[in-house]
Amino acid sequence: MIIVMASRKKEDVDHVVAKVEELGYKAHLIVGVERTVIAAVGDERGKFRLQALESLPHVEKVVPILKSFKLAGREVKQEDTIVKVGSARIGGKTFSVIAGPCSVESREQITEIARTVKEAGAKILRGGAFKPRTSPYSFQGLEEEGLMLLEEAREKTGLPFVTEVLTPEQVPLVEKHADMLQVGARNMQNFGLLKAVGRAKKPVFLKRGMMSTLNELLMSAEYVLSEGNPNVVLCERGIRTFETETRNTLDISAVPVLKNLTHLPVIVDPSHATGHWALVGPMAKAAVVAGADGVMIEVHNNPAEAFSDGPQSLKPERFQQLMKEIVPLVKLAGKTI
Ligand code: PEP
Ligand code: MN
Repeated sequence: MIIVMASRKKEDVDHVVAKVEELGYKAHLIVGVERTVIAAVGDERGKFRLQALESLPHVEKVVPILKSFKLAGREVKQEDTIVKVGSARIGGKTFSVIAGPCSVESREQITEIARTVKEAGAKILRGGAFKPRTSPYSFQGLEEEGLMLLEEAREKTGLPFVTEVLTPEQVPLVEKHADMLQVGARNMQNFGLLKAVGRAKKPVFLKRGMMSTLNELLMSAEYVLSEGNPNVVLCERGIRTFETETRNTLDISAVPVLKNLTHLPVIVDPSHATGHWALVGPMAKAAVVAGADGVMIEVHNNPAEAFSDGPQSLKPERFQQLMKEIVPLVKLAGKTI
């Protein structure tokens, strides 16, 4: 249920929050430009008791949230959420470029790529230290050492970084180092992990599962939000279809659909969506035009020898070129990089 406050005074709001909690619900305060609302979430069966709060002073009305996702929806928060990632921002009028290698491989590799992508205009570095690989015999990542190397790259370039966390047990370690925690496609419905990152103090980059609907993606975001972490960024990274010419099929319509349903920022990953470097540029441009809040692009200084995802990684000069090409489109979309 949404409790729309008639008053914005702290004591009035606190009083209603206390009443909501007394009834056994979690109260999430959403202070917007236009109005202050309290989203009361919990067991649906007691909603008539929440409805009765309409009689409290300073409450304008109590209305049900119709969608299955509550905190993620535009019903409770109309304004776009802007997520802080270190010195960078995702959402609103910003178009965020997140770039870097699939995996952190060595100090030289991550430092060099970080410098290149920063120079080209990326605001956030990516790089996997814990890798979810289809085969247990494939490179699994440098793990903690990879996190340290990402920290070094951040020190040298000033770029905040996002990196994947695979298990709930890894959350404290990854959270200690990273600026944003990535939950990968394969883990989108790992509810234990979603709850763990929901309790973390760092923002979460949530990738759509390759066989998941948008409603399921939003329900996964809801897990994170309901644990108290309001900073979630959604990522469309392609879904599995019958098509085999591309690694996945980029569901570009996911962007306007999500932007309509949720206030959370939406990023497109054209690298995993297509699986081939030559398709990354066109799909990145499509993402800008579709209204995405940014792109996540894999860049490697030597794709032919990359430990993972070489075929879809852009060489530095191709990345630089793409950045030049998207600037006018970003402007057209009313955003700035
Ligand atoms: C990645 O970002 O390198 C990755 C493994 O992505 P996804 O979870 O989308 O496959
Ligand atoms: Mn990858």
